[in-house]
Amino acid sequence: MSNNYYLILAGGVGAAKFIEGLANVVDPSLLKIVINTGDDIELYGLKICPDIDIITYTLANIIDKQKGWGVQDESFNCLNALTKFYDFKWFNLGDKDLATHIFRTDLFKKGYNKTEITSIICKRLGIKSQLIPMSNDDVQTFIRTKTETMHFEKYYIKYQCEPDVLEISIHGIDKAKPEKHIIEYIKGAKKIIICPSNPIVSIGTILGLYGIKNALKKVKHKVIGISPIIEGATVKGPADKLMKCLGLEVSCIGVANYYKEILSHFVIDNRDGESKPEIEDLGIHTYCYDTLMDSIEKKKALAQFVINIEV
Ligand code: GDP
Repeated sequence: MSNNYYLILAGGVGAAKFIEGLANVVDPSLLKIVINTGDDIELYGLKICPDIDIITYTLANIIDKQKGWGVQDESFNCLNALTKFYDFKWFNLGDKDLATHIFRTDLFKKGYNKTEITSIICKRLGIKSQLIPMSNDDVQTFIRTKTETMHFEKYYIKYQCEPDVLEISIHGIDKAKPEKHIIEYIKGAKKIIICPSNPIVSIGTILGLYGIKNALKKVKHKVIGISPIIEGATVKGPADKLMKCLGLEVSCIGVANYYKEILSHFVIDNRDGESKPEIEDLGIHTYCYDTLMDSIEKKKALAQFVINIEV
């Protein structure tokens, strides 16, 4: 295998924006994308992989760009009909999106694993990049708040990340094995890029798999991260509450501290320029750029900036 590929560590929405930019500035077939599966959930008997689906729909150019998840031009007839039989409908499943989950669940029943299923779905949707679920074993993230312990997706969607987080538990992470190619891909990659994703429950979950952190430490000279925190706040999602729960400072410095063992290059937002010296003191080459990806031009510009970093 030639080593001219980029290995990307990804969560969902934040990662997808960056990957859309990347796929426009490098040949998409050079992207191997390891995706968090700690948000995966079974609902209505269907296997749902939220982060894999967001990246898949983005690269297939069928993502709902307004929402940042789901398929564009969706209807919700099936979900509405399901409320006759189930007493919850907090997880928004569009009719077209459901087709993916039905197909995935069918393939699971036929004995395929997540890697194989993801690859089949990507092929059918014309995706040239390689999407790799972080593990084929079951890993699920649970959040404890003052009132309830619940699946991460319920916290995110039903409760809109409002309640403070008292505890994060990642069920199955101790026993789960990383997908079998990831360690080899880490060694061989030209560069490894950590997307601006949730550092705790997206990237942190991938890093929690046995062997991944050690493999990255050995090649940290070629690992580049992008901060998902701008001016002490998340762009979207509960990264701030989760970082607080773990006693981390909610800032690009807090993220840099969390990643310091595994990377040597870090891109922070221009607005956080004053944090650069403190991050450089951690031994990390730090770059300032406009990291708020609110247009395709800005996604491409950030991707090109990261690709140009010499490792
Ligand atoms: P999720 O699993 O869907 O929550 O998505 P991710 O884990 O990939 O990303 C969530 C993180 O992405 C949050 O911490 C956001 O702050 C960050 N994020 C989202 N959009 C942007 C952006 O345009 N720029 C930067 N720097 N971070 C972003």
